[in-house]
Parts: sequence; C-alpha cells; structure tokens
Amino acid sequence: MAAITMKNIVKRYGDGFPAVNDVSLDVQDGEFMILVGPSGCGKSTLLRMIVGLEDITSGEMIIGGKVVNNVAPRERNLSMVFQNYALYPHLTVFENIAFPLRLAKVPDDEVQRRVKETAELLELTEHLDRKPANLSGGQRQRVAMGRAIVRQADAFLFDEPLSNLDAKLRGQMRAEISRLQRRLGITTVYVTHDQTEAMTLGDRVAVLRKGELQQVGSPRELYEEPVNLFVAGFIGSPSMNFLPASVERAGDAMVLDTPLGRFELHDRRKVEAVGDREIVLVGIRPEHFEDASLISEEKREKGAVVRVVVDVTEWLGNELYAYVPYEAPADLAAQLRDLSRELDSDQMRTQAVVALDASSMITPGREAELWIDTAKAHIFDPATGRNLT
Ligand code: ATP
Repeated sequence: MAAITMKNIVKRYGDGFPAVNDVSLDVQDGEFMILVGPSGCGKSTLLRMIVGLEDITSGEMIIGGKVVNNVAPRERNLSMVFQNYALYPHLTVFENIAFPLRLAKVPDDEVQRRVKETAELLELTEHLDRKPANLSGGQRQRVAMGRAIVRQADAFLFDEPLSNLDAKLRGQMRAEISRLQRRLGITTVYVTHDQTEAMTLGDRVAVLRKGELQQVGSPRELYEEPVNLFVAGFIGSPSMNFLPASVERAGDAMVLDTPLGRFELHDRRKVEAVGDREIVLVGIRPEHFEDASLISEEKREKGAVVRVVVDVTEWLGNELYAYVPYEAPADLAAQLRDLSRELDSDQMRTQAVVALDASSMITPGREAELWIDTAKAHIFDPATGRNLT
C-alpha cells in the first residue's frame, strides 16, 4: 500500500488554459479519497497523471515516497477500474480475474491460489466458472474489482465506475465498493461528478473546479463549512439557496433584507465577519427551513420566520419540497451582477427550494410561514464568493 502525494501539479494541453492548475493533495495510506467536480474540471486528467497515462507539465507526483513523474504506468503498481468494467465476455470469471497474473506470466499454481483467495474475499467463489453475461451488474463489478485486487496493487483508482448503471444498482454498488475498500484498506482515489457518490463513499472529498482545488475535507466538513459559493452550491441536494441581501446594522445585530423577507442575525461572529459590506449572499440549505406551523414557540424564537407564497409542492413521502418564487429588487440584482464574477445562473435562480417535514400542509397559492434556522445560515461575499461565516 502507498500514500499518494501531489505537489503543485499543473497540466497544460498544448499552450491553452491549464486543465489542472497547481493542485496539491495528500492521499494517506489506506485512505478513500474522492475527486469530484463538474464536467471539465480536470478530475480525470488528475487521475490519469497518478496512473501515468498523462504527462505532468510541472509539479511532483509522489507514490509510496517515490517521485514517479517519469515512471512508466506499469511500473507504478496501481490498479485502475474503469467505467464499463471491461470484462472479457468469452472468459470465465476465473480467467477474467486471473488475466493480469497470466499477463505477468505468474506460475499456474500461484494463479490458482490467488484467484481463489480473491474470489473468496469478493464472495464470487461459486461463480468462478460462469461467463460475465450470466452475472448480475453487481457481480460483474465485483469481478472487475477482483481483477484489480488480484495484482496486489499499492492503490486503486476508479474513474466514474458507476456512471453507466441505473440509480438503484448504483446505490447498491456504492455500498459494495465502500465495504470492500474498508475491508481491504487499500489507498483509493475515486473520480465522480456525482455529489451523492462523493458524499457517501469517501473518507475525504476533494472538490475541483476549472482545474483548481477548491476544498478538501470530510463530507461533513464540506457540507457544514463550505469555503465558498461553489462548494456550497455543489455539495448537498437540492442545493443551497443563495439569497441576495442588503445589510443594515441594528446595534449589535444586523438585519438582512432578502427577497423572502427581512430577518435579524445576532451571532457576533457573523456580524463581525460581514464587516461593512452592504450586499451579501445568504446561503440557506433547503433542509434548514421548516413549516412554522409545525414547530414549538421556543424553537420559533431561535430562528427567523418569513411569510411566503409557495407556487409548487412535491410530496416525496418522507419530505415535502416547496418552491418559493421570488424577485430580487432590480437595483440589488444589478449591483450583484456588477460585483460578481463568481455567480453562475443557477446560483442566481429566482426561486428558493425548501425541504419540509412530510406532514406539512403548505398549499400552493396560499400564504404560509416558513421558519429559518438562522444559526445554520452562511454568508458569502458576492465579489469573491468566499464564505464569510
Ligand atoms: P469529465 O467529467 O467530463 O470527464 P473531467 O473533470 O474529468 O471532465 P478532464 O477530462 O480532466 O475533466 O478535462 C479537463 C480539461 O482538459 C477540459 O477542459 C478538457 O477539455 C481538457 N482536455 C482533456 N483531455 C484533453 C486532451 N487530450 N487534449 C486537450 N484538452 C484536453
């Protein structure tokens, strides 16, 4: 096993915009690290540089304490699992798993022993004589993993291995991969664009955007303490609401005037962090709203209550999503546009999404009160996108 250290890694294709720009990241021995970000953010390029399928423009790639920039892929002793499993349909499960050993001309008795051990670990023993066509999707994935494990590589690398599967199988496979990685304790780097996969699989998640590393942390850290608008909007589903707000001072508190209503924040730390800014973006996750008619008086006082009219509701059985259209005052919207290079159209959307208890009777078209857990609100600088809180 081996730790993987990336030091100031840059990748330029031709002389264009860097696909990976100054990324430094430590993957510890035995750790499960997820690389996540939207299409084109450079996550596959980074993975390919770890494996050695792509040259590194500058920076150092260190695996197991050794700089491998100029080491050929097959000498890095890494195992890569691809999107479509790439099993050989004409070979049995046994021979599929044995394939890398046969290539390396490992003696037959050792092949027998190692394939059997691997099959046992993956609960594939009774399927060794079958062909891939006669296996379930999950079993096929395990065979692909088996082929990666049998080589006793120092680390596993996954490039969107589940993206071709339907949602249900994807969920099952997530659990399988997670279980296996824990059991084997092998250093793993896993690329995905899916924030749910990122949040559920890894020990830590590295969020990339336009070739740059935004934040590295546990799923909980990214969710609770996103460093900027991008991470805040990317992690969490449905995504965080960003409400433009003008700021007024009121003694020790500040009043945020948002399109959903005005509310006060007393938290000293937040008030100080906002400083003398006149416009901010208030970030509130959908699950930090509640139907105010369902909460206690005591709780009501710990947050803010706004009156809104919902226009669409979606009842999902375990919760109710409600959509609240709003319009930012024209001057505020114009100032925000001037201020911000960071906001994309999704973050400027003009509806808030709230996730309420399934027992809520909020009805489209009628006025209702929503409670906001203001202690959990984030405040962002619209000019830089930085989280001020
Ligand atoms: P996706 O999820 O769509 O695969 P990604 O985050 O994995 O995206 P990369 O495939 O690493 O992103 O690509 C990062 C950037 O580098 C993109 O702008 C892409 O167009 C560019 N790029 C990738 N491969 C090459 C190449 N061989 N030549 C030139 N540009 C490339």
